[in-house]
Amino acid sequence: MKDCPIILRGRIVLPDTLLDDGVIVIEGDTLAAIGSPEQVRTLRPDIGAQLDSLTHDGLTYMPGLVDIHCHGGGGESFPNATSREQAMTAIMAHRSQGTTTLVASTVTAAADVLLERATLLGQLAEDGELAGIHFEGPFVSHERKGAQDGTYIIDPDAQLTRQLIEATQHHTVTMTLAPEKDGMCGAESVVDVLIEGGALPSWGHTDADPYAARAALEYSREVLARTEHRRSNRATVTHLFNGMRPLHHRDPGPIAEFLADSSQGGAVVEMICDGIHLDPTIVRDVYTMLGRQQCVFVTDAMAAAGMPDGEYQLGPQKVRVEQGVARLAEGNSIAGGTARLLDCVRVAVKEGAIPLVDAVYMATVSGATILGDTRVGRLEIGCFADVLSVDENLRPVQVWRRGKCVD
Ligand SMILES: [Zn+2]
Repeated sequence: MKDCPIILRGRIVLPDTLLDDGVIVIEGDTLAAIGSPEQVRTLRPDIGAQLDSLTHDGLTYMPGLVDIHCHGGGGESFPNATSREQAMTAIMAHRSQGTTTLVASTVTAAADVLLERATLLGQLAEDGELAGIHFEGPFVSHERKGAQDGTYIIDPDAQLTRQLIEATQHHTVTMTLAPEKDGMCGAESVVDVLIEGGALPSWGHTDADPYAARAALEYSREVLARTEHRRSNRATVTHLFNGMRPLHHRDPGPIAEFLADSSQGGAVVEMICDGIHLDPTIVRDVYTMLGRQQCVFVTDAMAAAGMPDGEYQLGPQKVRVEQGVARLAEGNSIAGGTARLLDCVRVAVKEGAIPLVDAVYMATVSGATILGDTRVGRLEIGCFADVLSVDENLRPVQVWRRGKCVD
């Protein structure tokens, strides 16, 4: 016997507009119908009687959120997880708050540790629990390492890159790379291996001058354009502003290049819109300059997301969390975030004055486009039934993933 459809009625966030009174019909793991009550009645005369008795519940429904840069939560972290259970704890800390599509991020570590994590996380991606893996390092800048452990930063190694992609069963989504490192671009380079393997370069943790940044952006654009089975058309930029040489008008570094390239439809910039890593006004300004398609919200969350202040681990390094701000115990560098992606949407709307539809877009469609996955990130017929309902303060009320309630 077929399960009864789940029917929801409230305010709905669509990719381009807000529907003040809308209906969502979930059947199995799929969105079977969506639209105004009248439209859904026409589409689905068989559920007319149920629609008659359904009233607007005062909640706002949006697609399940898509976070493409996340190290952990719930006390566990992907860079430290050695078991499936540990990784699932981190996944659930985000899923329960509305992030139904999650990419697990590693940190810079020894090659054998990275290969071990790649195998564990790749299997979780194969099983549909993760959307893929993001390697943050190890080919990054010593000068702009942030919370990456300098001991394990190495020169670009195409062979290791290939091994990592294979260990993830080709579920590698992105790898953070510093453009200025010798051998990053060119024939048989790390960039070539990544794109050929179905992943994307994510420029970041960089001390590059404008010329090196521009050359890397142009090179990755060229390789992407000629690769047929590419994941997406565009490279990404790992947490714009954080972990890179700051913008100064006489010493510009890479940021103006990233912005200029993105403004022309090039790279998509990640922003950690948690109110801590970036002032919300700079998030709004970048969104205004580039447009929502060129921006993606990420949490960069670590083990403390959803947990109290205290001491945590981020890969090989100790982290102290005070008032929700994570810093390395040694050196004081910000060491990841403690937000979930819905928190970033809330900061964008309430503190950054970004319209809700666009804030949700940058937390859903933008990430889905980078993943190359058309079944997530949108409330459209045929997509996965990944739905999040929130109250008027944008706090989560209920989450469905693949049509099932998430506790
Ligand atoms: Zn990170």
